[in-house]
Amino acid sequence: MKYLSEYRDPVLAQSLVDRIRKVSSQQWTIMEVCGGQTHALLRTGIDEALSECVELIHGPGCPVCVTPAASIQNAIRLSMRPGIIVTSFGDMLRVPGEHGSLLDAQAQKGNIKTVYSPMDAVQLARQNPEKEVVFLAVGFETTAPATAIAVLQASQLKVTNFSILCSHVCVLPAMKLLAGSKQNRVQGFLAAGHVCTLTGFEEYADFVEQFQVPVAVTGFEPTDLLAGILEVVTQLELQQVNLVNCYPRAAKLNGNQSARELCEQVFDVTDRRWRGMQIIPDGGLCLKPEWSRFDAEIKFSLPAETQQECSTDCRSGEVLAGMIKPPECSAFGTRCTPQAPLGAPMVSTEGACAAYYRYRNHSSLQSIETT
Ligand code: SF4
Repeated sequence: MKYLSEYRDPVLAQSLVDRIRKVSSQQWTIMEVCGGQTHALLRTGIDEALSECVELIHGPGCPVCVTPAASIQNAIRLSMRPGIIVTSFGDMLRVPGEHGSLLDAQAQKGNIKTVYSPMDAVQLARQNPEKEVVFLAVGFETTAPATAIAVLQASQLKVTNFSILCSHVCVLPAMKLLAGSKQNRVQGFLAAGHVCTLTGFEEYADFVEQFQVPVAVTGFEPTDLLAGILEVVTQLELQQVNLVNCYPRAAKLNGNQSARELCEQVFDVTDRRWRGMQIIPDGGLCLKPEWSRFDAEIKFSLPAETQQECSTDCRSGEVLAGMIKPPECSAFGTRCTPQAPLGAPMVSTEGACAAYYRYRNHSSLQSIETT
């Protein structure tokens, strides 16, 4: 059985492009919410192939990009305290905080280790009972279940020297903020298929109803993305407003029940500041009170978050809100590069600035063949 090649078929992709062009009577503005989708669109040149009929606006769906600078600063503070090991995913280490990155802190004797899963951090805590191990937990609903498992595992194994700095974020509240803002010019959304695989997409029906915009739950391969765009454009042309699942092989109405139950057991929904953006109502997850012994902010009496960002030159807030494209930032490719990033969207593998830096020379659907 094939799982990928049929979704990367250049002939099918070209026929979808032709159909979108044929059905469009004007240029429509569509936001792809997830950074993984942004990278796929730029890598394959779909955005350029459709530029006459669709303007693709890149959304805030990069979890590393929206992790507040204050969370990184708290992780750096902890890493400098004797007896504490801070752990996180590799992407997070290079993201600038208020005063440098975790990588910078590591060079200044901060005790920081990269892990591939939160369970690795629990294991590290068991191997180092004389140390405190803190996991900087970032990501959307997709990574939250693994953090929940780590907390439950630490509890079952009576690991008392493990805690988390919780910076998990939720996608749909951010979409609501964008759709309801005065500056909004998005006419249709491609919802993040991987998030819907976990959460389901039942709640998106209310979003469609409230904001009167079509939404297509969309995957990450070229034909997935084109099918989602075709669906949204067709609805816009017909003046329809519906929720459609264009990713049925993975996303189901109620999502992954086991993963949802894990998250409900460990997390509460909370208001959360997204980096470069404002505090988003219900935009994040925090530990439930009964798990507060695993909350590093409480355990180590960390200061409340500030609004500071890493660089006043960085326009990542506008990039994440879809108000500008990365090349419109004066620092893009000059003072800000993947080697010397000023902001998180240039660091992350899902960041829009990194996508433009890496792929902008692609201009042909031929690149689909090499994905
Ligand atoms: S190019 Fe760099 S400085 Fe400009 S918005 Fe992107 S990350 Fe920030």
